[in-house]
Amino acid sequence: MDDYLTYTKPDRIAAGVDQLAAFTEPDRPYTRLVFSAEFDAGRRWLEDQFSAAGLVCNIDAGGSLIGIRAGAGAEPRAKLIIGSHIDTVPAGGRFDGIAGVLAALEIVHYLNEHDITLPFDLEIVDFLGEELNVWGTSCLGSRHMAGLITAEMLGRKDQDGRCLGAEIARIGGSGKPSAGVRGDADRILGCFELHIEQAKTLQSMLVDIGLVTEIPSIYRYGITVTGQAGHSGTTVMDGRRDAAVAAADIITAVSDLAGRIEAEDNRHFVATIGKIDIFPNGAAIVPGRAEMTLDLRAASDRSRLRFEAALDKLIKQTSMTRNCQISRDQLAGAAVAPMDKKLISILADQSARLGLGTMPISSGAGHDTAHLSRFARAAMLFIPCQDGLSHCPEEFTSADSIARGAAVLVRSVLALAEQSAPKGLI
Ligand SMILES: [Zn+2]
Repeated sequence: MDDYLTYTKPDRIAAGVDQLAAFTEPDRPYTRLVFSAEFDAGRRWLEDQFSAAGLVCNIDAGGSLIGIRAGAGAEPRAKLIIGSHIDTVPAGGRFDGIAGVLAALEIVHYLNEHDITLPFDLEIVDFLGEELNVWGTSCLGSRHMAGLITAEMLGRKDQDGRCLGAEIARIGGSGKPSAGVRGDADRILGCFELHIEQAKTLQSMLVDIGLVTEIPSIYRYGITVTGQAGHSGTTVMDGRRDAAVAAADIITAVSDLAGRIEAEDNRHFVATIGKIDIFPNGAAIVPGRAEMTLDLRAASDRSRLRFEAALDKLIKQTSMTRNCQISRDQLAGAAVAPMDKKLISILADQSARLGLGTMPISSGAGHDTAHLSRFARAAMLFIPCQDGLSHCPEEFTSADSIARGAAVLVRSVLALAEQSAPKGLI
């Protein structure tokens, strides 16, 4: 049986993690926000790594950095896309996204060291701005490829007046809305992304590789409660129309409801009210209005529809018991993104050949691959994440864990290449 060390070098991966980690706001490790000076420097470093590995670099219209290793045969060739992202959240970790980019680069090193020319082009990608940014849009690069970046998004400004479209143009993208899905979508054999799990299932099950079954739907709703503001001293309790009390009822009930649906459906299902504004927000005023944002992630659309129906009932009930008007608006919604079964089975086979344990796993978080899956075959593999900690400086996975995942990718690329007619996959 092959060993993962045949295919990858954990030391080289560890060195890459350390070097990228140095591109951070010094007072707030690890912070490399998209379009920041640290991000620009990280990009330059990565471009150097890509070039040193013989990749031909370019920035696509959406601002993603793409390193191309040309395959054999006449153009136009089929292509395989492998990547992740190097931007971080504020005070984030060293591995979220970075592990996937460095693992993709390991494939190129292996091919170079063994003088292998693939029958298709290999594209290693740093997707632009995967993390949610101050302009309110995550996954900038992959959304652009999927035809989902609009003029409205690009026109948004941050508090310093920086326009999103202008920032994308500054780093080499077009700064223009997507004209549609990638023009070469029909030539894409598949897309792979390695990522840390960002939860602790793999660690607690002692499994090396998680084969992602789907990336959850992400829905956001605005819930507005309108009551009646009044003097906190003179407004008697009986008959108050306190918007904050009604909001509190909803927050508690939403948490209970989500827990019940998660248990009954036995699929990933989480609902969070993480943002609330109370008006007028004064210590001596009965709150007259409350505005909340509900964030929902579900592995199954059925669970979400059940939740929405129950939420509407709950809103009606609360509005009667608390004598407030309550409305719900959908702010954003993206459907569940199922991963490609054929690509998953290749990842499973190659993991087994390396003696690595696998298990199917739902992604809790959103990823670039969700957008890629809208126009191409796509699959993700997760590697263990220590204690499930992510989006924080304590985030950790070992270089060996990344190397195991990278070895699965190397073998999967070779398996795709060995198929005499790669298009047969499609
Ligand atoms: Zn990520």
